[in-house]
Amino acid sequence: SANVISGTQVSQEIRETIKEEVKELAGKGVTPGLAVVLVGEDQASQVYVRNKAKACETLGFYSEVHRLEASTSQEELLALVDKLNQNKQIHGILVQLPLPKHIEEKAVIDAIAVEKDVDGFHPVNVGNLVIGEDSLLPCTPAGVIELIKRTGLTLEGKHAVVIGRSNIVGKPVSLLLQREHATVTMCHSRTANMQEIARQADVLVVAIGIANKVDASYIKPGAVVIDVGINRLDSGKLAGDVDYESAKEAAGYITPVPGGVGPMTITMLMQNTLLAAKRLNGLA
Ligand code: NAD
Repeated sequence: SANVISGTQVSQEIRETIKEEVKELAGKGVTPGLAVVLVGEDQASQVYVRNKAKACETLGFYSEVHRLEASTSQEELLALVDKLNQNKQIHGILVQLPLPKHIEEKAVIDAIAVEKDVDGFHPVNVGNLVIGEDSLLPCTPAGVIELIKRTGLTLEGKHAVVIGRSNIVGKPVSLLLQREHATVTMCHSRTANMQEIARQADVLVVAIGIANKVDASYIKPGAVVIDVGINRLDSGKLAGDVDYESAKEAAGYITPVPGGVGPMTITMLMQNTLLAAKRLNGLA
C-alpha cells in the first residue's frame, strides 16, 4: 500500500521556515501584508477567506479582509484594488473568486499590480511562467510541485500525466512539471484512451472536479499520485478526484483528501506574500 504524502505535515514544515523569515524581516522594519477581498456571501469562499486571515495571524503577517456586498459595482471593486495597489503596508492582494455575475473577473485580475498578484493569475505572471521568467506562481500548482519534491523523486526524464486543463490548476501544473524537466502529457474531457495514457505515468496529477473518478486501473504500479480534487459528497464528506482506497493499492505515493494539496495552497499563498514583501522592499 502506498506511502501517504501528508500536505498537512509538509505545510507545517514550510510554515516554520516562513515564521523565521518573518522575524528576520521584522528586524529590517518590514511586515508582510496581505489584503483579501471577498464580494458577496458564497459559503465556501467565506471559509477560505477566514482560513487565509488565520494563517496570516499565526505567521505574523499583517492582514486586511475587505468584505463587500454582493451588489458592489465593478467600479467600486476596481477602486478598492487601486487603493490596495498604492498601499505600502500591503504586498499581496487576493480577490476571492468566483465574483458575482455582474463583475467581469478578468477586468479585476488585470487591475491587480503584477508585483502584488499573490494568486499568480495576472496575465503578466502567467506569461512569465510560460516563458520561464521569474513570476509569482499560482498557489495550488506550486503546492503540487512541492509535494512531489518531498517524495525525493527527481522529475527529470519522468513521464508526468496531468488530468485537467484549467487555467488555475491543470495548465500551470503542466508548465511547472516541464520546468522540472519531466515529459508532460495533458488529458482533459475530450481525451481518448485516458486510462491507457494515465497508466504510463510515473507521476499522475488529477484535477478534474469529479469525485473518486480515478481508481487503481488508471495507475502504473508505484506511481506518484497527486489528487487536487476537493468534492463535497451528499453525505457532507470531502472526496478527491481519486478513489483513494482503490488507488493506494497501486500507487507508490499518494496524497489524501483532505490533508493533501488543500493545506499547501494557503501555505504557498503565504510564501508568495513573503516573497512579494521582500521584492517590493528591495530585499529579494
Ligand atoms: P475546472 O472545472 O476548471 O476544470 C476541470 C478540468 O477537468 C477541465 O479542464 C476538463 O477538461 C477536465 N475534465 C472534466 N471532466 C473530465 C473527465 N471526465 N475526464 C478528463 N478530464 C476531465 O476545475 P479546476 O478549477 O481545475 O479544479 C479541479 C478540482 O480541483 C476541483 O475538485 C476543485 O475543487 C479542486 N481544486 C482544489 C484546490 C486546492 O486548493 N486543493 C484548488 C483549486 C481547485
